[in-house]
Amino acid sequence: MVMTATKTKWVYLFREGSGDQKDLLGGKGAGVAEMTRAGMPVPPGFTITTEACRQYYADGRKFPQGLWEQAQEALKDVEKATGKGFGDANNPLLVSVRSGAKFSMPGMMDTVLNLGLNPETLGGLERLTGDERFALDAYRRFVQMFGKIVKGIEGDIFEEALRGAKKLAGAKTDPELTPADLRQIVEVFQAIYRDHTGEAFPTDPMAQLRAAIEAVFSSWNTDRAIAYRRAERIADDLGTGVNVQTMVFGNMGEGSGTGVAFTRNPITGANELYGDYLVNAQGEDVVAGIRDTEPIASLKKRLPAVYKEFEQYARKLESHYKDVQDLEFTIERGKLYMLQTRNAKRSGEAAVKVAVAMHKEGLITREQAVARVEPRQLEQLLHPRVDPNVKEKPIGKGVPASPGAATGQAVFDADTAEEWGKLGRAVILVRVETNPADVHGMIAAKGILTSTGGTASHAALVARGMGRPCIVGANQIDVDLRAREFSSNGTTIKQGDEITVDGTTGNVFSGKVTTIEPKPSAEFNTLLSWADKIRRLEVWANGDYPRDAEKARANGAQGIGLCRTEHMFMEEERLPIVQAMILAETTEEREKHLAKLLPLQRSDFNGILKAMKGLPVVIRLIDPPLHEFLPNREELVRETTELRITKKKAKRLAEAEKLLARVEQLSEANPMLGLRGVRLSILYPEITRMQVRAIIEAACDLKKKGIDARPEIMIPLVGHINELRSVKAELEPVAKQVQKEKGVQVHYKFGTMIEVPRAALTAGEIAKDAEFFSFGTNDLTQTTFGYSRDDAEGKFIGRYLEQKILPRNPFETIDSGGVARLMGIAVKEGRAARPGLEVGICGEHGGDPESIKICHDLGLDYVSCSPYRVPVARLAAAQAVVAEGSTSR
Ligand code: PEP
Ligand code: MG
Repeated sequence: MVMTATKTKWVYLFREGSGDQKDLLGGKGAGVAEMTRAGMPVPPGFTITTEACRQYYADGRKFPQGLWEQAQEALKDVEKATGKGFGDANNPLLVSVRSGAKFSMPGMMDTVLNLGLNPETLGGLERLTGDERFALDAYRRFVQMFGKIVKGIEGDIFEEALRGAKKLAGAKTDPELTPADLRQIVEVFQAIYRDHTGEAFPTDPMAQLRAAIEAVFSSWNTDRAIAYRRAERIADDLGTGVNVQTMVFGNMGEGSGTGVAFTRNPITGANELYGDYLVNAQGEDVVAGIRDTEPIASLKKRLPAVYKEFEQYARKLESHYKDVQDLEFTIERGKLYMLQTRNAKRSGEAAVKVAVAMHKEGLITREQAVARVEPRQLEQLLHPRVDPNVKEKPIGKGVPASPGAATGQAVFDADTAEEWGKLGRAVILVRVETNPADVHGMIAAKGILTSTGGTASHAALVARGMGRPCIVGANQIDVDLRAREFSSNGTTIKQGDEITVDGTTGNVFSGKVTTIEPKPSAEFNTLLSWADKIRRLEVWANGDYPRDAEKARANGAQGIGLCRTEHMFMEEERLPIVQAMILAETTEEREKHLAKLLPLQRSDFNGILKAMKGLPVVIRLIDPPLHEFLPNREELVRETTELRITKKKAKRLAEAEKLLARVEQLSEANPMLGLRGVRLSILYPEITRMQVRAIIEAACDLKKKGIDARPEIMIPLVGHINELRSVKAELEPVAKQVQKEKGVQVHYKFGTMIEVPRAALTAGEIAKDAEFFSFGTNDLTQTTFGYSRDDAEGKFIGRYLEQKILPRNPFETIDSGGVARLMGIAVKEGRAARPGLEVGICGEHGGDPESIKICHDLGLDYVSCSPYRVPVARLAAAQAVVAEGSTSR
């Protein structure tokens, strides 16, 4: 037993710990402890706790009191267990010193092998193994690793010296080096060490051990470890454990070797031992990829008894942990040693397959199976993606905004994208940014790439909605729209050149790279059917066209949560009518143009209501400011100036001048907070009267054909009850009148979006007149924080996240402290005023798994997201139930 006078126990022998102590011992420490307990051949050792690492930092980078004494005592136990002595020239004990945090951080922290070697123990190792070359090679590796890890000497300096020595000795590979060569290399390495540190290479094994432990503690806070934690959302204050373990050697001849194996295939999920094995090698050789590995199956031929033993352990560990294990092992002269077990990282495909198989095998419950798969991993399965085995290097990288991969010819404007698309060409639309005028090009494109913008920029939102792969904010890419080309890291891509964008990783490639097509497996459908039985939240989809509705239904959507009617105004043949309507000087004139839009809108609504028959369709009345439908001001100024100078085309000049005057009249200092949403309906009620007429006419026509249409009419941006009352007073009579004209009654509701704080705070009043609420969390986030989304994401959110001023991007995950609180008030007070009030969310957050959990906890009825994200949302909604432990089956 390891015990000292101090109270805190900093050191655990492997046999003292257990698998459920990941917090204290780190993942690796807990794994070796569990294997030791289960009687598996684990080389003896001990773990220094993560608590010791935290204390080390708290004390200003000093070993906590009692740690070193406990480590020395533990070492004595290891000496006894192995019958070897640390520093004993006759029978030396050598150890490895490795990091091991609670969550695996592959390759991020440091390891020192063969620790305990010095000129005396080297002699002992030579005698014991009868292999001088092996012993010298171990020493050479030790000096190199110790110098690099503990003293921070550039690894390349040693590698360079090694290459020089090989050249001098006429050796191509390491094994060709003779003992004499190696002896010389050790000397050179020690000289490098001396030059860089100003001190001799330490010969005292205890001093080596102390320094190595300290180096592992320090590696917790290297730049790369910090960056990794940020990317993986791992807390900075967990600390790492340190594992000191007896060395076993896989490089002692043909009967030795080392390998890494998974209990199931981590790429496909197939139930087979999968991994790599390297004969006569040490672990670092497998990782470094210096030599070609053999598949694990070859071990079966070489050492059948060892393979059988390993297979048994693998099975036992998997059923113990009830999850796929990633195992490390070494064979030293025919004897198997288990070095590590941990839950394996796996592809989306494997995650789904394994979760379903493990339930069927009786290892885990359905709820556990559903909780096992990361919702984001499902996305990988829904879009084509770049084959992870491709060798090509990306030419640039941006923010992955909409997953999937696409290859096509680069084009730099929406019209060309559309033109080429009609000719059947695959195109990728490359822009600095996109705006609503580019939508037709985005529809025609297979993928979208912008050099600016964040995950909620126009390009990102539209691309996700359409399921198009999209990369935004690729700031290494220098787009020259005039020259129709972009350059990135020395490569120039001209219009027509082929590129591939991978919206899952954010990588941009020149040319075509191999992609993999999605094909949802039977297991995928099974897992989602389990999720459907568990979840409480319904999942609806945002969609503007019948094709979106069809996709949504195919993916399991239970309604349309947002149909943005203005998208229909943007379409090419309608825009001139919409513009004429906006330019109209009198209400009568405006109504004339609106009459032309009516049949077009009616057929839009007919299509979407029909596709969603029997299910609710929330149709939002016009929201954006009117100037968005008019040409850009700068372009009009340029055009009018040119026309005035050339004095040609007088008619066009008059038109352009009129347009410009109206654009200037409509221009606002801050359109996001200006004349939009319900405010527009109050100033121009004839527009929304036309929209309501179109909706109810479409529903009545369908009803007459026996089709159950369920429109829900949504009024955006309400902040005061009187806004809603005023608009409803205009619109309800229209709905009644249409039904009278058509001679049928249809199901419909009038409701509102909750997307400004005042609406949330006065939800009790608003609910008296609203039959449903839908949280527009895009605007609610903007108005709660007082950020305009594009400005915030383009300018300062990145810095805020870096400096931890904000824990998350609130446009991706609902801000739990502010926005969610407002939502909570609205749900509670809304339902108090109108029991059973239907409440959903249609902002971008509706497809984000963490936000879905918040919506579940707040008691919403449904979340609505892009049709492509519906399966992700179904799974996330079920996980929210599993997380609270109240499964209903
Ligand atoms: C919202 O504000 O969340 C919303 C859905 O509306 P839009 O994004 O169209 O403003
Ligand atoms: Mg909005």
